[in-house]
Amino acid sequence: MKISEKRNTFIGCTAGYEEADIVLFGAPFDGTSSYRAGSRFAPSAIRKESHSIETYSPYLDRDLSETAVFDGGDLELPFGNATAALTEIEDYTAQIISDKKKPFMLGGEHLVSLGAFYAAFRAYPDICVVHFDAHTDLRDSFLGEQLSHAAVLRRIWDKTGDGRIFQFGIRSGEREEFLWAQKHTSLSKFGFGGLDKAIKEIGRRPVYLTIDLDILDPSEMPGTGTPEAGGVKFLELLGAINQVFHLNVAASDIVELSPPCDISGASTALAMKLLRELLLSFIK
Ligand code: MN
Ligand code: MN
Repeated sequence: MKISEKRNTFIGCTAGYEEADIVLFGAPFDGTSSYRAGSRFAPSAIRKESHSIETYSPYLDRDLSETAVFDGGDLELPFGNATAALTEIEDYTAQIISDKKKPFMLGGEHLVSLGAFYAAFRAYPDICVVHFDAHTDLRDSFLGEQLSHAAVLRRIWDKTGDGRIFQFGIRSGEREEFLWAQKHTSLSKFGFGGLDKAIKEIGRRPVYLTIDLDILDPSEMPGTGTPEAGGVKFLELLGAINQVFHLNVAASDIVELSPPCDISGASTALAMKLLRELLLSFIK
């Protein structure tokens, strides 16, 4: 066994940094969670439990052990300071991109996506965002905070402007957010209707794919901060992910697993299986 294989990594992600195509890292921050906190524990839980699954995907007929993914561990983030946490995430992501590698971030609450997005936006100013979530996340502020998990897509829009955000699975938000979305984003309610059209529209532009795990139905994914009934099924999500990775995906994340809310452990198990599929899809 090589020394590098002795690190505590996500299963199969034992490549060294230099040789890696993808860099996986955790952003354990849940400082603005409004309902049930705990997503800060997700990256370490996913990594720790991952040795119970296989590196081989029967869906894709690919194996993580044949790929070059570096697991950089978790960032040390200041829980009480969202601005400082986002700066840490942005700097780390920017370094990965400037080293010609692709970042994959494990949240944390959804706000962490903003830090990684800022870095991707700096590198690829024409980047589009594909957003899977139960919630619009389009509030201008939430509980007085502009930097909130409930405002993350609105903050992303501050950079992209109209026509570059594509939202799917949405089934919760204020009426004002849905009305605002009609003018400024492409929002698909309840599922993945219109994904083909969005993919055509995005074309060869770079993509940031952000997946809030609460897009899934709580029957499969109860272990999340704000569960929302009426969600998509795991296999539907896998199908949509498969389609999105035909695009030029530049960076991606999964957010909002909350291990303290995951009494059975099944949500963590789902998240690690999904992560395996995402990494294997990302590599091409
Ligand atoms: Mn969200
Ligand atoms: Mn959500």
